[in-house]
Formats: sequence, C-alpha cells, structure tokens
Amino acid sequence: MTMEKRDICACSIEELTKYLESIGEKKFRAKQIYEWIHVKLCDDFDEMSNISKNLREKLAEDFFVEKLRIEKVLTSKIDGTQKFLFRLRDDNIIESVLMHYKHGNSVCISTQVGCRMGCRFCASTLDGMVRNLTSSEMLKEIYTIQRFSGERVSNIVLMGSGEPMDNYENVTNFVKSVSNENGLHISQRNITISTCGLIDNIRRMADESFQATLALSLHAADDETRRELMPIAKRYTISEELDACRYYFEKTGRRITFEYSLVAGVNDNLDEASKLYELVKDINCHVNLIPVNPIKERNYKRSSMKNINNFKSFLERKGVNVTVRREMGSDIQGACGQLRKSFIEEET
Ligand code: SAH
Repeated sequence: MTMEKRDICACSIEELTKYLESIGEKKFRAKQIYEWIHVKLCDDFDEMSNISKNLREKLAEDFFVEKLRIEKVLTSKIDGTQKFLFRLRDDNIIESVLMHYKHGNSVCISTQVGCRMGCRFCASTLDGMVRNLTSSEMLKEIYTIQRFSGERVSNIVLMGSGEPMDNYENVTNFVKSVSNENGLHISQRNITISTCGLIDNIRRMADESFQATLALSLHAADDETRRELMPIAKRYTISEELDACRYYFEKTGRRITFEYSLVAGVNDNLDEASKLYELVKDINCHVNLIPVNPIKERNYKRSSMKNINNFKSFLERKGVNVTVRREMGSDIQGACGQLRKSFIEEET
C-alpha cells in the first residue's frame, strides 16, 4: 500500500513529535526539523545538516516539502519593488510582490489561484477561480521571497489574487504559522487581511481572537454604486459590512482599514466623500484611497489628481485618518493579477 506523502510545512511541532516517536526517533528532533522548514526556510530534506542521513531519507519517504518555482522576477527601476511569478507543483501560476519601505519589507501574497468574487475593476477575477492555495503555499510565498532577497520580511498583506475569507481555513492556518514563535514569528499585528466582505468569516475571525488588521474593500458609499462595482454587494449591504467591522474592532481592538478605489465618474466626487464620512465617522478606522489601476478588459478610468486630492482633503478636514496608496512598482505591471494574466496569455 502506498501512503500519500504528508505536507511537512503544515505540520506543527506536536505533530512532528508524534511522528518521530512513532518511528522510534528522539522527540527533540521535532523542533530541529521545524526550524529547518520555518526558520532556515529549506526546500529539501538534504539541507538538514544536523539530521542523520537515515532520518532524512525516512522523512523524504513520508513527507514532501512544498516548493514554489521562481518563474520570473521583475524589479522596478523606480522603487526596487519586485514582482515574483511562481509556478506551483501543479503548474498553476501565482504572483507575489516584495515592497521596500522605510519601516521594513512588506510582501503582498496571493491566497487563491484566480478569484471568484467578480469585482469589476480587478484583473485577478477575470478568469474565475482555479483553486484555493494551501497554507503551505502561502508560507512558501513568504519563505521563497525572504530566501531569494536575503532580507527579512516584516509585514505581510493578503492583497494579491484571491479572496482570503473565501479560503478561511487555509488563510487562518497560514496566519497562525507565520506568526508562530518557533517560525518566522511575524507579529499578527503586521499582517493585513483584505476582504471584499464575507461577513460570516469576518465575524468568525473576530471570535477566534486574531490580531491581524482587517481591511474591508468598501469602494463605494452607497449600496447601488457598490453593487455596480462588486457582486458581493448584492449579498450584503454596506450597513451589514460595517456592523461586521465594528464587531471585529470590539473583539480584537484592531483599527479597521477601509479600502476605497477611486474610479473616475463612478465614486470620486465630494458627495460620495461626504457619504463615506457619514458611514465611517463613528468607527476607529483608517481610510486608504486607491487610485484605480485601469485594466484593459474594462473601461474604468483613474480619477484625476485634482479629484483624488479633493476627496482626501475633505475627509482630512473632517478628522478621518486617510492616506492615498502610494503606487509601487508602476513600471512592472500594475494591479493585482495583471502580471499573472499576461504571463499565462503569453504562454498559451
Ligand atoms: N479579495 C481581497 C483582496 C483583493 S486585492 C479584497 O477584495 O479585498 C486588494 C485591494 O485592491 C482590494 O481592495 C481590491 O478591491 C483592490 N483592487 C483590485 N484591483 C484593483 C485595481 N485594478 N485598481 C485599484 N484597486 C484594485
């Protein structure tokens, strides 16, 4: 009988301990092996130099180490931002981004291959969803980038392709692993999870006392406009979304981020800024304005600098914490999912 190999990146120290005991090995090896995988970020059992050859061979029989192949790296000449195209073991392609800030290195990861949420302005969703990423594949996005760059990753944003709350189990396991003190130990407070607003799972995350920052993709200040931009708005009203955000804040104490992509003529006038203010004024929050990154498949246009600045100053004068997202790596393909899509189109 052939047993399927287990994914060793997904094994806790406790699980490794049990395994080692079952094959008559010393328990303390569990922590060593865990460290090889999650601190030294190794891709191969042969790198585990303090583990006997015998045990390494046994491990290789029973487990596999998740591995992402670097298919392409693009480096921005403007700000050094790097976009990575990874090939998964089943040949699917995903993208991740490494951004250098004064306060540290931030990596933006994908959580699914494609996406099924259907937001109108987003490239990731144009061809639907292929599958969820496993927690190990998400870890490997971080690990592979850290190893490649030789620089420590200090912040993680789940803002690549995919809807994190549509892959709840794997995403929360990823958050637990990457913040584990025996692994990379990146504080949950340095992790931002962006969602189009799957309410049940926002509440579930609040109940499970995570400390990650929740970023809600609002993108409109009234339900009608939001429904034009995001199919999820047909399922939940803005008021229901905001209740879930308030709940997340109550349970976790974490300030909410609202993402608002500015689309010319759709949601970028001062009327909308004023409605937005009314919605968020009683919430401890930060508003992140994102000048929309036009994709060729849709006719959306970026707001003028004048409108962006007026929108921002209006909120500022009202005392709202507001920033305009700085565009990173604008010379190496813009919005989420664009790089992956053009790569696949080139390939086929
Ligand atoms: N599924 C998650 C993560 C998406 S990407 C979510 O919906 O939040 C992170 C943010 O970028 C989201 O707010 C998303 O709506 C926004 N976004 C996607 N494509 C964009 C584009 N072309 N221009 C501007 N913002 C975009």
